[in-house]
Amino acid sequence: MEILIAKSAGFCFGVDQAVNKIEKLIAINQTLNVPKPLYTYGPIIHNPHVVDNLKKRHVNVIAKIEELPLVEKGTILIRSHGVTFQEMKEMKDAGFEVVDSTCPYVKKIHRIVQKASKEGHEIIIVGSKAHPEVVGISGWSLKPVQFIEELEDVDEIELEISKTYCVVAQTTFNHNLYEGILNKLQKKGIRVIINETICAATVERQIEANELSKRVTKMLVIGGKDSSNTRKLYEICKRQCKDTYYIETIEDLVLNVFTVNDIIGITAGASTPKNIIEEVISNVRNAEF
Ligand code: SF4
Repeated sequence: MEILIAKSAGFCFGVDQAVNKIEKLIAINQTLNVPKPLYTYGPIIHNPHVVDNLKKRHVNVIAKIEELPLVEKGTILIRSHGVTFQEMKEMKDAGFEVVDSTCPYVKKIHRIVQKASKEGHEIIIVGSKAHPEVVGISGWSLKPVQFIEELEDVDEIELEISKTYCVVAQTTFNHNLYEGILNKLQKKGIRVIINETICAATVERQIEANELSKRVTKMLVIGGKDSSNTRKLYEICKRQCKDTYYIETIEDLVLNVFTVNDIIGITAGASTPKNIIEEVISNVRNAEF
């Protein structure tokens, strides 16, 4: 059996930065006589094991802005997905210290959307409407925005020839699908301002997963079940390798599907901690036939 591991598997720069920041805040807290309450706004990453571990160390999740009056004042860390302008304002106005760990690539999209809407352009966000990153981005526009999730949505949204549309994509959106959507918009004769906002780390991870899954007999994609970038990786790999398995931890790994002749590919989403990846690799490596 051979195991091939994607170089790009695991935490991306933005997630790494947010996790390091919360660790620093915990360390500072431990030096205080009276520790400050620590929160993250939403789960810090889409990985329940990391979130549970933080909870054990007294870092709680504030799920929505309405919860602010119900909790003790303290420090809120904004995760890499970012938040809306209004949410940021309300946290500060309510007397919380805000540590902004929005990924710089997401922050850049906030600025694009804010500026373009100020200049009077229409805003189209390509991505999953309900994803926190997309919700956050939409909240930096000064006017209502439209969403495209699938190629077919281009025919559903309201488009006017006289207007200019500023188009941005969720950072983890599928690169090929974004190109297809942009082409379709342009073919309709719509004036579009195209922004390349898909994160290079995401593109690199998707390309590597695509190539790797062509060369293997079985493919493992590791990541939280709620992680949209992991799900996209799974879909990409599944197209190339029908025996692709989506696992969150070692517990989901069914070793008896492997045979001695298998070539096993392993990749992981941007929010998958190193220790989980290593545990999976070591279990696969030590599998007995
Ligand atoms: S995937 Fe890219 S944009 Fe998203 S948090 Fe990671 S580095 Fe930032």
